[in-house]
Amino acid sequence: MNRLIKVLDKKDILPQYINTPIEKLLQYHNLGYDFEKYAKADLLVGMCMDNRKQLRIPNNFAYILRTGGGNLRYSEFKVSYAVAIGSVKTIALIGHNNCGMVNLISKKDNFIKGLIENAGWDEKHAEEHFTSFAPMFEIENEIDFLLSETKRLNEKYPKISVVPLFYNVDDNLLYLIEESK
Ligand SMILES: [Zn+2]
Repeated sequence: MNRLIKVLDKKDILPQYINTPIEKLLQYHNLGYDFEKYAKADLLVGMCMDNRKQLRIPNNFAYILRTGGGNLRYSEFKVSYAVAIGSVKTIALIGHNNCGMVNLISKKDNFIKGLIENAGWDEKHAEEHFTSFAPMFEIENEIDFLLSETKRLNEKYPKISVVPLFYNVDDNLLYLIEESK
């Protein structure tokens, strides 16, 4: 089993993250540290678009890409931009519990109905839209997806450190993940 580490104190931060932007992120968001000034971003954050999550970080500290499920497969040019032009060397990939992208297929009828009623789409168009895009964004399990996406990005950007973090929407804290070997 992968273990979630609730970071409530500086000593909860795993040694490999000390003196990295991950340590700073945890200090700002979880531990309430005062904001430092940043002239440029040190970090790229990839996280879900979910409205229940908001990071407490200083201005200029991070690029942020938000997508369904924190899935960056369709945002790679923007990741590359942050790496190539923004010179970030660390990516925090943040998953969360109760993600709407889990079991997306169960939301099909409501999705189609919602597009018809809220956006004025016709049923055929709405159904095709769901059917063509849902498989790209559906995730089975939040943590498994987060770890596989982290691995994929680490392989794609070998000189960049990609770190998986978990956001608990019940306490609004970030957790580190200790992967089972
Ligand atoms: Zn989500």
